[in-house]
Amino acid sequence: MEGCLFCRIVSGEIPSNKVYEDDQVYAFYDVAPQAPVHFLVVPKKHIASLSEATEEDQALLGHILLVIKDIAAELGLDDGYRVVANTGSDGGQTVMHLHFHVLGKRSLIWPPG
Ligand code: 5GP
Ligand code: ZN
Repeated sequence: MEGCLFCRIVSGEIPSNKVYEDDQVYAFYDVAPQAPVHFLVVPKKHIASLSEATEEDQALLGHILLVIKDIAAELGLDDGYRVVANTGSDGGQTVMHLHFHVLGKRSLIWPPG
């Protein structure tokens, strides 16, 4: 989608520090990390947010979670990690292309702010 920051990152138009890529998914380190390990996993398909996902996206969403699990293992997040999909304004979403934050290598508090 034209003008979308994460579509431009997926296409390579904007550089990023890639963690993983396949035909459906792109993962890259967050530019403003909130934990020693902080990366984002996005579908290559433009979906504005989780609330815009449809039945058609079921396999894609499942694939993203399994990719997250595999990357976390690869990066040695053996003590655990947090997966967050900020959604909409109350959710604190600032980039309107569905993305899953993965945070690890520190103990995270709950509830979030
Ligand atoms: P949100 O607030 O929408 O849940 O998360 C957006 C995330 O994207 C933020 O954590 C922010 O640091 C990250 N981000 C914004 N612009 C860029 C960028 O140009 N490159 C990278 N790697 N991350 C970005
Ligand atoms: Zn997009």
